[in-house]
Amino acid sequence: MSYDTNNIFAKILRGEIPCDKVYEDDFALAFNDITPQAPVHVLVIPKGEYISFDDFTTKASAEDIAGFYRAVQQVAEQLGLQADGYRILSNIGRNAHQEVMHYHLHIAAGCDLGGMIKGGLV
Ligand code: AMP
Repeated sequence: MSYDTNNIFAKILRGEIPCDKVYEDDFALAFNDITPQAPVHVLVIPKGEYISFDDFTTKASAEDIAGFYRAVQQVAEQLGLQADGYRILSNIGRNAHQEVMHYHLHIAAGCDLGGMIKGGLV
């Protein structure tokens, strides 16, 4: 699969559609999820064109990978999430129901987030 430059997060990065921005630096953009699943639900995306976690970690430079994950930590710090805790997750591919084919991490916080996978093991 090749990167689709018309995916919704690519359009957000180009400023073609708006987002509710939380944080931005040279490596990443973070914004509130449009359909929040928790009191705090932020998406963090790298600025480069990567489809998924796999694509990002195999193709991005070490500098871009380090910069991206430091940005994720900056978001958590800026939002004061460390004290009560938070969850980071990324959906990759069909079984995980990845909807947007631009790599992103979800940060969820602000309540007891429950078990890691709804319904537990199948
Ligand atoms: P995933 O299933 O991991 O690909 O999640 C994609 C996420 O993007 C979902 O939680 C959507 O609610 C969110 N989303 C889709 N479009 C937008 C948008 N325009 N602004 C903010 N979040 C969005």
